[in-house]
Amino acid sequence: MNASTSTPAPAAIVVDGLRKSYGSNEVLTGIGLEVAAGEVVCLIGPSGSGKSTLLRCVNLLEEPSGGVVTVGGVDVTDPDVDLDGLRRRIGMVFQHFNLFPHLSVLENCTIAQRKVLKRPQAEAVEVARRNLDLVGLADKADALPAQLSGGQQQRVAIARALSMDPQLMLFDEPTSALDPETVGDVLAVMRSLAEAGMTMLVVTHEMGFAREVADRVVFMDAGVVVEQGPAAQVIGSPRNERTKLFLQRVL
Ligand code: ADP
Ligand code: MG
Repeated sequence: MNASTSTPAPAAIVVDGLRKSYGSNEVLTGIGLEVAAGEVVCLIGPSGSGKSTLLRCVNLLEEPSGGVVTVGGVDVTDPDVDLDGLRRRIGMVFQHFNLFPHLSVLENCTIAQRKVLKRPQAEAVEVARRNLDLVGLADKADALPAQLSGGQQQRVAIARALSMDPQLMLFDEPTSALDPETVGDVLAVMRSLAEAGMTMLVVTHEMGFAREVADRVVFMDAGVVVEQGPAAQVIGSPRNERTKLFLQRVL
């Protein structure tokens, strides 16, 4: 949980009237959502409700069909937007971590620093080691991904994202593909990131995590935000029938 201040922090992400269609299938039908700097927002909702699509519109992996998305005050749909610059500011962690299988853990965390940020090797290694230490994997720097558990690989993926010095982090069901016994370590890393003040938008089915770590929970269904508010309210005493039904199924 982040300390509140008297002056509101500038919004890190503003989504307003966001629409996205695939052919005639309108998947997002007017989404409004704000994430303030330093805020942790958990996005919950049934499969197919558009959560991943929303995240992918924020870093322009998908092109919005309408509406506005700004990241750090920059309109991502502006045709003149510096797309590489935008993506550099946004760390993304997916369900499937997609580490390079032939590269060591350390190399997985240095390659984009070298190629995209043009960092010198020594600096890239220093940054990577610092972030591997942060996720509890300093001793695995020389391992290959296949030698690690799923949870350890996901923590490498988080260290890799952090090594690009992102201003905010997007997580799309980061623990959904993991063996249950490795989930806790990943959530612990995400919790420590949140406590360190990272701005985070997290799609998750981990209601315990949402309840304890999120500043705000947003419930989506069928392409719209149905209900949002403090975690204790949305998860603990939801107002909307659709939210209630969803929570009955997942809790
Ligand atoms: P969620 O992450 O909440 O499960 P998604 O954002 O993945 O939902 O998907 C929402 C809807 O959009 C689904 O009906 C899905 O089939 C559709 N969809 C997602 N990606 C594509 C795509 N690339 N092409 C066509 N339809 C898609
Ligand atoms: Mg999804």
